[in-house]
Amino acid sequence: AELPADPDLTNEVRQVKNTLFSYVNPTKPSNPKLIHVSEEVAELVGISKDEIKSEEFLNVFSGKEILPETQPYAMCYAGHQFGNWAGQLGDGRAINLTEVENNNKFYTLQLKGAGKTPYSRTADGLAVLRSSIREYLCAEAMHYLGVPTTRSLSLALSGDQVLRDVLYNGNPAYEKGAIVCRVAPSFIRFGSYEMLTARNELKNLKQFVEFTIKHYFPEITGDPKEQYLKFFQKVADATREMILHWQRVGFVHGVMNTDNMSIHGITIDYGPYGWLENYDPDWTPNTTDSQNRRYRFGNQPQVAQWNLFQLANALYPLINEAAPLEKILDTFITDFENDYKTMFLSKLGIFTSSEADDKIIKGLEEILQLSETDMTIFFRNLSKIKKDHSVEQAFEKIEFAFYIPEEIRGNILDAWQKWLTVYLKRLNAEELSDNERSEKMNQINPKYVLRNYMAQLAIDAADKDNYSLVTELFELLKRPYDEQPESEKWFAKRPDWARTKVGCSM
Ligand code: AMP
Ligand code: MG
Ligand code: MG
Repeated sequence: AELPADPDLTNEVRQVKNTLFSYVNPTKPSNPKLIHVSEEVAELVGISKDEIKSEEFLNVFSGKEILPETQPYAMCYAGHQFGNWAGQLGDGRAINLTEVENNNKFYTLQLKGAGKTPYSRTADGLAVLRSSIREYLCAEAMHYLGVPTTRSLSLALSGDQVLRDVLYNGNPAYEKGAIVCRVAPSFIRFGSYEMLTARNELKNLKQFVEFTIKHYFPEITGDPKEQYLKFFQKVADATREMILHWQRVGFVHGVMNTDNMSIHGITIDYGPYGWLENYDPDWTPNTTDSQNRRYRFGNQPQVAQWNLFQLANALYPLINEAAPLEKILDTFITDFENDYKTMFLSKLGIFTSSEADDKIIKGLEEILQLSETDMTIFFRNLSKIKKDHSVEQAFEKIEFAFYIPEEIRGNILDAWQKWLTVYLKRLNAEELSDNERSEKMNQINPKYVLRNYMAQLAIDAADKDNYSLVTELFELLKRPYDEQPESEKWFAKRPDWARTKVGCSM
């Protein structure tokens, strides 16, 4: 209660003033049932295995019961959506239950899909099972891939029906409602600051930034202005690292609006996300963005910078000096490009770098597209190439990753031969042995990612009350870099039926 709370305790949709959050309780679900719990995340926040099995756990993390001495709330924030100022948004279907401290770390526990809040606008505050499964599995998969992210504690059915679509025949298409409990240091977004500046609530802005630094960046010191700049630098650095990981594993967020950007540089708000299958920098999983492709894979670093620019604007009234903010924004892309080169070369098993390596990267990015190459399979299998291989032998290791049919590969093979010739030469200039290199590469290039079709299979089964695939994928994706011979079937190209994206946003 250090920050200004909404004095209005009703749950009416409204525009608020001088308010960082509104107290609101979850809507009681009619017949909650747990589908899955992450024991690791439970342990992280101090919940024992026995407690997971309790009635209280189910009730609390489905929103049926409120923990004693807690006061759940929804946060107010604004944001830029698809490049346009959207004004007040806020948690329309997320409710923070409480913060806990465990092993000197702080965690916020948040329910998503637990009913309306003052920020629900025209929507219902609910989430359907399919999008909840997607968020639940993906966040944990990302964590185990080494990508900064919110964590998933639990996935529960609400027992209530949710309406998302009306069929062509005019009949409503009801879906199962679900609730995910997700966990993060905080759920503060770039848009949280933008809102205060847009409303010219500068006293609140100052108080909120100081609160953020005190609680989440206690290592920051100096006079106030210096602190605000250091804060911005830290957010920029964390964001850059997060995007670098996204590009490493081929993750496309799909909705990088400023209200979906965490100040901790963690991946947040899993909606119509997807993974690159055939390597294509122009790909986006978000069908509502298929015209402009603002949030396409290859544009994520630029969008991150644009979003940071909005955060800089929001912090500006506290700093009143553009130059130091601009400097941080300018170095964002140049630093990213340097990091990207090192990262990309490491995916290739090249751990020293020179000017000449730029060509290897550029050349590869081009032919990966020509042969419609599965990104995950390609990089994973690349580690099987040995220094003394011929070009033909090397080619055999990677052609399994191509989507383009054999009959029409034609001169693409020439392009691969050229590239592989250079690559083999380059490998021979590296000191590492084949074994050492492949071991390192396999820590960088995952074998298993949550492909859209995999999530879709789990969703289809879940619709028929079979949740075994949720568990199977959850376990598989805990060890994405390990060979898992019993799960080799998931190391496969996207099947034909899943060629157009299978995803969802709501
Ligand atoms: P998103 O694109 O999912 O990040 O959501 C953008 C905004 O819409 C946020 O303020 C969400 O809280 C809100 N929102 C999305 N879905 C719903 C829903 N079903 N009910 C209420 N608010 C929602
Ligand atoms: Mg959001
Ligand atoms: Mg969403």
